[in-house]
Amino acid sequence: MRIAICASEVVPFAKTGGLADVAGALPLALEELKQEVIIIMPKYKAIEEPKFKINRTKEGVSYSVIGENIKVYFIENDAYFKRDALYGDKTGDYKDNLDRFSFYCREALELLKKLNFKPDAIHLHDWQSSLIPVYLKTIYKDDPFYKKTKTVLTIHNIGYQGLFSKDKFPKLGLDWSLFSIEGLEFYNQINLLKGGMVFSNVINTVSPTYSKEIQSKEFGYGLEGVLSQRKNSVFGIINGLDYRIWNPETDKFIAKDFSVKTIKDKGEDKKDLQKLCNLPQKLDVPLFGIVSRLAEQKGFDILAEGIDKICKMGLQMVILGTGDLKYHLILEEMVKKYPKVISLHLKFDDALAHKIYAGSDIFLMPSKYEPCGLGQMISLRYGTIPLVFKTGGLADTVTKDNGFVFDKYSKDTLIKTIEESIKAFKNEEKWKKLVVKAMTCNFSWGESAKKYIELYGAKKKA
Ligand code: ADP
Repeated sequence: MRIAICASEVVPFAKTGGLADVAGALPLALEELKQEVIIIMPKYKAIEEPKFKINRTKEGVSYSVIGENIKVYFIENDAYFKRDALYGDKTGDYKDNLDRFSFYCREALELLKKLNFKPDAIHLHDWQSSLIPVYLKTIYKDDPFYKKTKTVLTIHNIGYQGLFSKDKFPKLGLDWSLFSIEGLEFYNQINLLKGGMVFSNVINTVSPTYSKEIQSKEFGYGLEGVLSQRKNSVFGIINGLDYRIWNPETDKFIAKDFSVKTIKDKGEDKKDLQKLCNLPQKLDVPLFGIVSRLAEQKGFDILAEGIDKICKMGLQMVILGTGDLKYHLILEEMVKKYPKVISLHLKFDDALAHKIYAGSDIFLMPSKYEPCGLGQMISLRYGTIPLVFKTGGLADTVTKDNGFVFDKYSKDTLIKTIEESIKAFKNEEKWKKLVVKAMTCNFSWGESAKKYIELYGAKKKA
């Protein structure tokens, strides 16, 4: 099957979150299953770095290669994409995101034709590529090139929808009739994700539980009605993890590699992390790690409420992330107050993320909602026990057999569960068993990629 993956971020070229991990790893798994895959993404400034081997086709299109022979094509437009960040800066989202990503979507469809790559399926991701199914059903509806092409939209987080003011609608090159309840309108605004949901053949989300949750008012962010109209076309395939990147046995970022047979060596990574973070190098103090966007969605509201108390519980905590300024400030206060307990790194740092996954004992991920979540799967692989709220993909991957789960979202239950985890940590023998259980969980891409192939092949609906 010929599959084109259109995503606005792809590992290793550009990443702000889990979408990039998925868009970089799923194609590799598909290639292993003998599918013909290409990827199309914008050419951001960072992609020009010499570490990426960029080639040019004779038509002048730039591309790189991942896996055996997966071509990653870059849509170029310096004015739109040659910027420091992907979607916005400190002051907020880039004001021309609608122009940028509608351009990307149009160009991606033109590129497929230029390359004569007639896809059986185009796999879209989130609002940034959601105009592709809209264009296919309108501008390209009579184009024989795309006659047999199906579209699968994966929603990585329904909280981010690509909302723009109505007056920008003419920029999309679509008929005004599409600015309607049945089309892209959402409370008098343009909603790109909604367009993708209405016009794609199949809607998918990144875990079975989240696919059900988003059909409810509580989690649907206003789009639950659209989903319920299309409920027979809504699926939930759990993300896998790329164990080539996330593997404590071969990880080049960590101080000492370890496996399930050499768990003791994980202690070296813990000491290394403590040293790096200026925390006392003590193996008997439980070390909690966080690698996350600092956002309410990730549980930072209840964490911020409880953090003072948590810092007095006889633990250490390393936090890596960026996000809402208010959480930056609260956490900075805590560092001043408890410098021997908490270490804060307000940045995006892949190498440090690896060190935290490897060196921590417990991975804190109390997300209020979580479409899939990769942090908990990564930490399991590194024998770092996840502590999570029972929601979305966290509910599908973490149980009391491999982690700590609380099911009432509040500061008090979070603190109670941290207490429980510390108590468990003190029981060395039991803890080791838990670590073994965690490390032997398998969330590789193989099974999920097979499920995607089924979706790509699903009967094309009108
Ligand atoms: P999201 O909702 O942000 O996509 P996920 O858990 O699905 O959350 O994926 C987050 C990914 O981004 C993980 O691979 C995580 O390790 C990584 N990540 C998040 N914040 C940082 C950071 N500050 N530095 C390095 N990696 C990060």
